[in-house]
Amino acid sequence: MFTIDAHLDLSMNALEWNRDLRKPIAEINAREAGLTDKPDRAKGVVSLPELRKGNIGLVVATQIARYVALGNPLPGLHSPEQAWAQTQGQVAWYKAMEDAGEMVQVNDLTSLEKHLNLWNNGHPNDTKAVGYILSLEGADSIVTINHLERAYNYGLRAVGPAHYGPGRYAQGTDATGFMGQEGHGLLKEMERLNIILDATHLCDDSFWEALDNFNGHVWASHNNCRALVNHNRQFSDEQIKELVNRGAVIGGALDAWMMVQGWVRRQSDPKAMNCSLEVMIDHIDHICQIAGNAMHVGIGSDLDGAFGREQCPYDLETIADLQKIPAILKTRGYTQTDIENMMHGNWLRFLRNAWK
Ligand SMILES: [Zn+2]
Repeated sequence: MFTIDAHLDLSMNALEWNRDLRKPIAEINAREAGLTDKPDRAKGVVSLPELRKGNIGLVVATQIARYVALGNPLPGLHSPEQAWAQTQGQVAWYKAMEDAGEMVQVNDLTSLEKHLNLWNNGHPNDTKAVGYILSLEGADSIVTINHLERAYNYGLRAVGPAHYGPGRYAQGTDATGFMGQEGHGLLKEMERLNIILDATHLCDDSFWEALDNFNGHVWASHNNCRALVNHNRQFSDEQIKELVNRGAVIGGALDAWMMVQGWVRRQSDPKAMNCSLEVMIDHIDHICQIAGNAMHVGIGSDLDGAFGREQCPYDLETIADLQKIPAILKTRGYTQTDIENMMHGNWLRFLRNAWK
């Protein structure tokens, strides 16, 4: 089934993990044997051939670069200008993949429908370009508000104002506090440019403030439920209700610590913790129960978000195994229409409405 994944950090993997994502995943992993600089070395699950194998023809792909002020212990760059430069390298990689025919940017209705026609033409996926919608995870790199239009002009279509910790425009996961004047300016400019607000990673204060002050289109690219795993990174039922009211789609994430309660990074084992694809369905199902329908959920796997097989469902060997999800949804009582909506239809409805 044609599948959309609303959250992958492809360019970060290419440039910071030094992965040539055109290569088969086995080859990428083999080349990383013995490396210990990242926890997921040799355990990657995402590459462009695996996306094609899994019929994942459209992804929301990030630019990501954090600014850290003096005293912020998180990894990051020491000025917004450095963060901007990092994101420009990431754009350059996406463009290089376009030049190589490996990827294609989807940024309006015309390019979206053209791309869907390509992926639904009945031919094998082997040589098809993987479509990507460009997003920005954490807006620290937007040096001045004027930079947002520059980014829009090279294709940026969704922005999550914050990532982890305190941000320049909003407060993120594990932080608290409001968005401030700069944040409000960012929201206004996003609204003017019709850039989608990604509510993922906003701390509770900033989440409610953003939704109160933003009149554009809102989604949450990769987010699970606080009711199932209690952490500030996850959405409370009240937040889910608000997102549903706003017509949002929420992408279920496959990062083990967000799926199963009590996960300890670098210690817990997916099998021992019973972390399987079923668990993501539990989170998706929780949102569907709140919404009263299956119209507000999709997949935002995050499967290359600085973790790999050591921290994802044990029944997923590569991202191509997202194709196991329709059968699981069926056993949970979802109709064929529900399943198609969850695998791609809800994101498409959202995009067609946002870009009309
Ligand atoms: Zn994230």
